[in-house]
Amino acid sequence: MSAVRNVAVLGATGSIGGSALDVIARHPQRLRASVLAAGGNVDALLALCRAHRPDHAVIADESRFAALRDGLRAAGLPVRAYAGAAALEGLVAGDACDTVVAAIVGAAGLDSTLAAARAGKRLLLANKESLVLAGELLTAAARGAGATIVPIDSEHNAIFQCLPGGRVDEGVRRLVLTASGGPFRGRNRAELAGVTPAQAVAHPKWSMGPKISVDSATLMNKGLEVIEAHHLFGLPDARIEVLVHPQSLVHSLVEFVDGSTLAQLGLPDMRTALAVGLGWPKRIASGVPGLDLLTQGRLDFEAPDPDAFPCLALARQALVSGGTAPAVLSAANEVAVSAFLQGRIGFLNIPGLVADTLAALPATAAGDLDELRAADAAARRHALSAIPRHAA
Ligand code: NAD
Ligand code: MG
Repeated sequence: MSAVRNVAVLGATGSIGGSALDVIARHPQRLRASVLAAGGNVDALLALCRAHRPDHAVIADESRFAALRDGLRAAGLPVRAYAGAAALEGLVAGDACDTVVAAIVGAAGLDSTLAAARAGKRLLLANKESLVLAGELLTAAARGAGATIVPIDSEHNAIFQCLPGGRVDEGVRRLVLTASGGPFRGRNRAELAGVTPAQAVAHPKWSMGPKISVDSATLMNKGLEVIEAHHLFGLPDARIEVLVHPQSLVHSLVEFVDGSTLAQLGLPDMRTALAVGLGWPKRIASGVPGLDLLTQGRLDFEAPDPDAFPCLALARQALVSGGTAPAVLSAANEVAVSAFLQGRIGFLNIPGLVADTLAALPATAAGDLDELRAADAAARRHALSAIPRHAA
């Protein structure tokens, strides 16, 4: 491998993509953004190409290919333009990169994430939905091809840092995922009925894309993270706990059989997790200042409220059911979050729609990717058709 690590940033125009590019740009001797990929926003992708000068730029929306190609040409940039999922998978699997930041949002990120795992790349995995949908296949593909997965979710990255070698062994008793509680922490169910999309995406501690921000407000994000932790670290639901910690400074904890608990602390800024993944096993600068606990003052912890935030229990239920259930959960949630953001359903209809879909499509064993994709598609169809019944 050359001295410079060539990094493909998938979801480059998003929140994680921007943080990854910020860290990469701090280390020109060590890191290079060689591939940039985005969904449909050509102008934002062109701006990133001007700033980071990758070899390849990919727009998922094929109808935007000409705009990308012509924009690159007009800017005089020696960047090759591509469009569509197949082109992206080819670049991810080929020589254009040795490291992949998987930061596409939702199940749309599955194929490129799998392609990186199968090609044995270092995989900085932010796209948690791909683990929820196909965790066993994805981790088996990574193991088979010798791909190193570094979790880019603050909690799982914290656990990765606390575990010797990043792996669970018999010395680990349980994992404790912390949750900020989101913008509605402390409210009861009745007080959540009328909350708006603008209030839901205004996260008190983290600046993130709209989908994960709504997931944080419903606590579905923490539910998805329990499933994510199960796949990354191989522990059952009963040994993965959730603790609300409103300051978002303790990013998660690992309890060992000898009574020790290790935690990772830091300011809530994803550049730390990305620097861990980009530099691993070395520590590299991320631009994030250190933590001044005297200024921060205190660390509080409380239990999540299962009545106001039923999504956490729905996700645990899907994990225990296994098979197609997590795929159904995640797909129904994507439909529900998008309907909520469009003003078509209320906040409390999100868990309602997910529970309805889980009940309508009971879990079956999922042998392969086709069965999981079919479950994902069936859940989307069911949830979409159920929206009028749930609409507030
Ligand atoms: P975002 O909405 O800010 O960005 C999403 C990116 O995905 C954009 O670049 C968009 O162009 C791209 N995209 C969307 N659909 C696509 C498609 N079909 N093909 C190719 N690209 C597509 O989202 P985000 O907050 O950066 O989150 C990205 C992922 O990281 C999510 O899975 C999220 O759960 C996870 N994550 C984010 C954070 C965070 O702090 N933002 C923390 C932990 C995990
Ligand atoms: Mg997280």
